[in-house]
Amino acid sequence: MLRFYANLKALQEEVTGSAIPVTIYFPDNTEVSFAVDYGMFQENKYTEKNREKFSDLEKLDFVLITHAHIDHVGRLPFLVKQGYEKKIYMTQVTRALSYIALNESIKIDAIKNNGNPKLMLYHKDDFYQTMKQIEVVEYRKTFSPVPFVNVTFYENGHLPGAAVIHVQAWHPECEETIELLFLGDYKKHNILQLTPDFPEELLQKKVNIITESTYGNTNSWEIPHVWKENMIRFLQEGKSIILPTISNYRLQERQYAYKKLVEEYPEFKKVRTYMEAKLSEQFSTVYKNPYYQFNQEGMDFEPTNLIHINEGNRNLVFRDNRQKVIFTSSGDATNGAAGVYVGHYLSNENYVIYLTSHQFEGSVGQRCLQTKTGEQVELGSGRIYTKKAEVLVTSECSGHAKADELLDIFNQFPNKQSILINHGEESVQEKFLKRIEKECKVKGVARIKPKTTIKIGPYGIIKTFESTN
Ligand SMILES: [Zn+2]
Repeated sequence: MLRFYANLKALQEEVTGSAIPVTIYFPDNTEVSFAVDYGMFQENKYTEKNREKFSDLEKLDFVLITHAHIDHVGRLPFLVKQGYEKKIYMTQVTRALSYIALNESIKIDAIKNNGNPKLMLYHKDDFYQTMKQIEVVEYRKTFSPVPFVNVTFYENGHLPGAAVIHVQAWHPECEETIELLFLGDYKKHNILQLTPDFPEELLQKKVNIITESTYGNTNSWEIPHVWKENMIRFLQEGKSIILPTISNYRLQERQYAYKKLVEEYPEFKKVRTYMEAKLSEQFSTVYKNPYYQFNQEGMDFEPTNLIHINEGNRNLVFRDNRQKVIFTSSGDATNGAAGVYVGHYLSNENYVIYLTSHQFEGSVGQRCLQTKTGEQVELGSGRIYTKKAEVLVTSECSGHAKADELLDIFNQFPNKQSILINHGEESVQEKFLKRIEKECKVKGVARIKPKTTIKIGPYGIIKTFESTN
């Protein structure tokens, strides 16, 4: 039998630190290695994993990037620092967003390590070198980074510029192909870019789908769509609202939703609207840039009369006692200005702190949520507050497809060979796996994780085995 298979594994343990190293073994005894994403671990318990080196780096032929979130691109400069000199493929919008995200990541790393360059994960030089190694690709234009491998990026609504990546391996000595489809973090739509359906030609392929499972145990219909309703109620009650939101694109999406809400309820025009989110303002410059040819409607995402605030004039907000809405980042209120605003208003019963994303263990957002009204909460650096504001989180604004939506995607591919899941909490992954087995006509399902290698041939999973690294 001909030697023709691909070995896949994942570097991420749970939600963050996305990276999938793949090696394809061809019949002529050659090999090709690539990685899909190389992200930062953001959970506190995995911080040290960021320093783990890429094994067999000298064999790595190319890198493909699904989207510009830091848990998917954050360690690229570290890869370059380790000696990676070849190409990194991504869309043009992902490149623009990655420039901002990686530049910021150096600053955060410097703060964490008290500016000690020896402790930092990577430096400016590595960052600039990374940008040089990026090769921009267009959606639906197949290219061959190396012989016998075809790569095509498809639109993905998770984030502007995001992609679903199809990798096809073929060989003249073999009639069959190996088809890998990396969904990345997946969502069907966003307000800036069109996401047309996958072409029939792709749908008919014998794909092996590699997918996230962040919401693997939640169905879209189980999530109440209460954001708008809640916002209206709080505003009608005269409350002021702080919206700590993920800086890259989720904040812009909330701004758009709020803008639409005010259009529908003109009585809210009198509510002052502030934004202090330095990093988010930088991402917004990409989303407002006509060069990228986004949908005009989506580019006008900012609420009318939005007042842009920075650290220097923050007092304007604090001195303004009128009813207001404050857009700020980060999503779990730990970094950026969000923590300052949350701290400032947490003891004020006329305020609502409205969170809309995953709250990491130990984050400011999670600590506020877990504290009962009237009790004290410590928000880091010895800042102690009595919680009087209402703090809540809802999850319908997330950028991830829910279990039923992912199953719909999988079932669009009638000839799929296997489904490999990663990128979710372990218990969620196990449940999702069982459901896929039940509801999808597919021969193989498996969890893709560290120290487990999955061997895939033209007809799907050949075997799964434990590896040493
Ligand atoms: Zn993402």
